[in-house]
Amino acid sequence: PHRPYIVGNWKMNGTRAMLAEARAIARGAARYPDVDIALAPPFTLIGALRAEVSEIGVGGQDCHVAVKGAHTGDVSAAMLADIGADFVILGHSERRKDHGEGDALIRAKAEAALAAGLGVIVCVGETLEERDGGKAEAVVSGQVDGSIPLGDAAAEAVATGKVAVAYEPVWAIGTGRVAAVEDVVAMHAAVRARLVAAYGEAGEKVRILYGGSVNAGNAADLLAAEGVGGALVGGASLTADAFLPIVAAAG
Ligand code: 13P
Repeated sequence: PHRPYIVGNWKMNGTRAMLAEARAIARGAARYPDVDIALAPPFTLIGALRAEVSEIGVGGQDCHVAVKGAHTGDVSAAMLADIGADFVILGHSERRKDHGEGDALIRAKAEAALAAGLGVIVCVGETLEERDGGKAEAVVSGQVDGSIPLGDAAAEAVATGKVAVAYEPVWAIGTGRVAAVEDVVAMHAAVRARLVAAYGEAGEKVRILYGGSVNAGNAADLLAAEGVGGALVGGASLTADAFLPIVAAAG
């Protein structure tokens, strides 16, 4: 039902030398017209990447809630849009942890991003402690309820496919420990239920991506699973050789 969406999150990796990988990814992407492909490099590379590649989406990894002002070190959604970004990743667990971001702030950022014309990927996911405590579904459902954008602009963005959610169990990120397919299916169904509760029938349009140690070896199984609309890929998005097989598994 959804076009698969494969997004590379470069996190705090990449100098200009890595633009060659982005170009190779974009060239390879041409072979998969049925897959939506995007990269989210650090802020410093967004402009250069956008100038060099047109075949794939380009996005940021965070934005501020305000349009402009006295917020040293921050970047606004309007600035991302101005430099040619198409979307922004928000509420990644690394930002929730490193920068103390909570659901209400993430929702405000998501609404600011939509107001600037960007698409959003809102990230959710439980810690190992929460999973072991049997709370994974409650935690993730609460994060969805609290951090997805609401309001008229959100309803319109949902209807036009500009809102995605990424389920990234914290314990699967960068660990090589991928979630079991049946657990991913169950969690994606739980997330879908919260999206439909928030947006009504249009909530079916939101793509739900899985993230956490996705690689060429496990991508096909994950992407074929019920309710998985794509992948948010960290480490395996840093080279074309690692990333393109994941795209191929979707296409
Ligand atoms: P890894 O693919 O490196 O586990 O990272 C996942 C992630 O956090 C993507 O946002």
